[in-house]
Amino acid sequence: MSTKAVRSESAKGSATVARGVARIVRGMPTSDGAGVKLTRVIGQPQLADLDPFLLLDEFGTDNPGDYIAGFPEHPHRGFETVTYMLDGRMRHRDNHGHEGVLAPGSVQWMTAGRGIVHSEMPEQQEGRMRGFQLWINLPARDKMTAPRYQEFGSERIPVATPGAGVRVKVIAGRVGDVSGPIAQPATDPIYLDVELAPGARFSQAVPAGYAAFVYVFEGSVQVLRGDAEGGQDATPLGTHDLAVLTEGDRVELQGGAGAGPSRVILVAGKPLREPVAKYGPFVMNTREELQRAFQDYQSGRF
Ligand code: FE
Repeated sequence: MSTKAVRSESAKGSATVARGVARIVRGMPTSDGAGVKLTRVIGQPQLADLDPFLLLDEFGTDNPGDYIAGFPEHPHRGFETVTYMLDGRMRHRDNHGHEGVLAPGSVQWMTAGRGIVHSEMPEQQEGRMRGFQLWINLPARDKMTAPRYQEFGSERIPVATPGAGVRVKVIAGRVGDVSGPIAQPATDPIYLDVELAPGARFSQAVPAGYAAFVYVFEGSVQVLRGDAEGGQDATPLGTHDLAVLTEGDRVELQGGAGAGPSRVILVAGKPLREPVAKYGPFVMNTREELQRAFQDYQSGRF
């Protein structure tokens, strides 16, 4: 009786189980496109995928030689790519006549669906290029959907300030009353760029059962796990650490004790729990569908 009373009391406020850290993964240096140097964090031997997330690349360099070759024409089918630019400019152009420049702070959420062929090329000769590309799977029923873009400049990404020393750019999902502009019912993603002053705390609801990770790209943070019985512990994460989070219904973070603010992306989504057949830029459910993707691409049906 008393337990029940306590539970319903806390259910009215915030959720009760703060997710901890299941494992910490470091990215692997690699190159892609025509020789762009990047760090692959999801989609490498240590972390092949995290359903529904197939890949996470961080690119960040002041050296034009690392990015200038760009990503010339290449296809995608069966999933979504999310490009979040922090610094630098990238021109995007596809075979359906869609073209645009991704500027600092902008997001391009591309649903490749049944197929696009595109290029992603730096729109600068020098200076810093920094950002992320995340691949999110589509369910079988949506893999052959028409290609679609959700593109937002930095001025259209709302900022939430849920507490002292906390600033959150809401790309997808909701922080308090602030909703991100992206809609994707299939995986219901949360994608937040969280800036934390030293010691500042941020608590975010993340539905139970969703896959979730935190990736630190500046400074350091602690993941504060808390169970329904009041137990707590903290796991420190450094720059370039990705933490796969345990089960729970919220995430609690605290800014590290560095001189300046720390920044992370907090990403979560509903797992699809479907078979995955993937090869390079094609992600389908079966080998037959993969072969079909190759045939369609080679015969110009994208
Ligand atoms: Fe691409």
